[in-house]
Amino acid sequence: MPEIGVTGALGAPVAIVGAGLAGCLLATLLARRGTEVTVYERRDDPRVAVPERGRSINLAISARGLQALDQVGLREPSLSRALPMHGRMVHGRDGQQSFRPYSADGTQAINSISRTELNAALLDISERTSGVCFRFGHRLRELDMATGQMTFETAAGQRTERAGIVLACDGAYSAARRSVTFRQGFTFWQDYLEHGYKELTMPARDGQFALDPDALHIWPRGSSMMIALPNLDRSFTCTLFWTGEEFAALRGAEQVREHFLRDYPDAAGLIPDLAGDYLNNPVGSLATIRCWPWAHHGAGCALALVGDAAHAIVPFYGQGANCAFEDCIEIDRCLAETGGSWSAALAAYEQRRKANCDAIADMALDNFVEMRDRVNSPVFRAKTAARHALERRLPGRYVSQYELVSFTTMPYAQIPGRMRRQDRATALAVAGLAGAAAALAGVAAAAAAGAARRTRR
Ligand code: FAD
Repeated sequence: MPEIGVTGALGAPVAIVGAGLAGCLLATLLARRGTEVTVYERRDDPRVAVPERGRSINLAISARGLQALDQVGLREPSLSRALPMHGRMVHGRDGQQSFRPYSADGTQAINSISRTELNAALLDISERTSGVCFRFGHRLRELDMATGQMTFETAAGQRTERAGIVLACDGAYSAARRSVTFRQGFTFWQDYLEHGYKELTMPARDGQFALDPDALHIWPRGSSMMIALPNLDRSFTCTLFWTGEEFAALRGAEQVREHFLRDYPDAAGLIPDLAGDYLNNPVGSLATIRCWPWAHHGAGCALALVGDAAHAIVPFYGQGANCAFEDCIEIDRCLAETGGSWSAALAAYEQRRKANCDAIADMALDNFVEMRDRVNSPVFRAKTAARHALERRLPGRYVSQYELVSFTTMPYAQIPGRMRRQDRATALAVAGLAGAAAALAGVAAAAAAGAARRTRR
């Protein structure tokens, strides 16, 4: 395949669309390998602008995200501003709380990190890396693959720029992706969840956290749920995951208060502006987006989809950003392995990442059912306890799915197979133990019968 780009040369200008989490990390990694990058972002610089309403305030970052942050020296600074959550705190309708550790030994934690702070830290690092240039207030409207021309909307009107390589890091509703949506051979699949999300603020009480900050709190209510993650200012951000119908059913402040007193009684009193937050905060949508291919070649430029632009997933495993960071690391690795050949690197990137991103998309959907419903079931609790007991007895040989996803960097696509093998081996071991126990019981019964016969004689 010929080298791609406007001039067909390796030095074609590189543009990243979107200075979100993936865009900033990728810009830094590329600049470090000597590539000059211009990052175009529709918002004003988020370090000086008011955060957008309706975007999640905090994120759970785990092993994969931390490994990526490590590459740009941000692991320790991010952890020092994070709140570790060692397990789930499940809140019943009666206000009872029960803590379920994430790992068998109770030591592993996911980390609640402010999205704004993380984005700002990534922006700072990129800006300090020679070769990265940011253009804020540039909303991509159109990308012409035949010429490599990008048309942006700015406060001063329309502006055009050219690039040979365009890396679309502009999120789930990517404008860059629209330039290939109707290309022959492009498959696009978008599945909206019937649930949306709305955030509420639970402020600090008397200067202290209103709930245990060492946990991700869940109020599972069958078809829907609320969760809460702690923030450094000792508040919690609560997120409702409800269906459109459930959101629409509560019309006024009185109805909101009554509903929360009935369904979330222990939280209702901890959210002073409950009705205000509920009635004023937007409902965000949640979608799984799958598409293929992720790398496209036109006469004027090549385009690669990265992060949510390639594979938006629902947030129930807390993996969207972690996974987007892994994409960036993979592109960097592929460029290193191919000696900087964009064609070869992007082809390898999409091949290596697609199955992994499909796998986490499925696991994230399944985890919603676990969080909102299964965690309530005594059978589920017994199974989790049994799995943790197995993990303690067979360290490293039996590892739960949650731990493989959150506390390792094992490729996501390998996890379902590993779980099946582990479960089979466990079932065999249990069956073996049951067989041995039955055999032992048989021997004991025979011995007892023999003893009885001897006594009679
Ligand atoms: P984004 O972060 O969406 O960044 C896209 C950037 O592109 C933005 O800066 C945007 O302004 C810019 N942009 C958009 N359009 C244009 C345009 N036309 N021109 C120029 N710029 C543009 N993930 C986790 O790992 N852990 C979690 O706990 C977690 N919780 C979540 C909770 C919720 C409620 C939601 C909705 C998501 C959550 N995620 C979580 C997922 C995570 O937010 C995303 O996967 C992650 O932000 C993807 O990063 P990205 O850089 O690909 O896209």
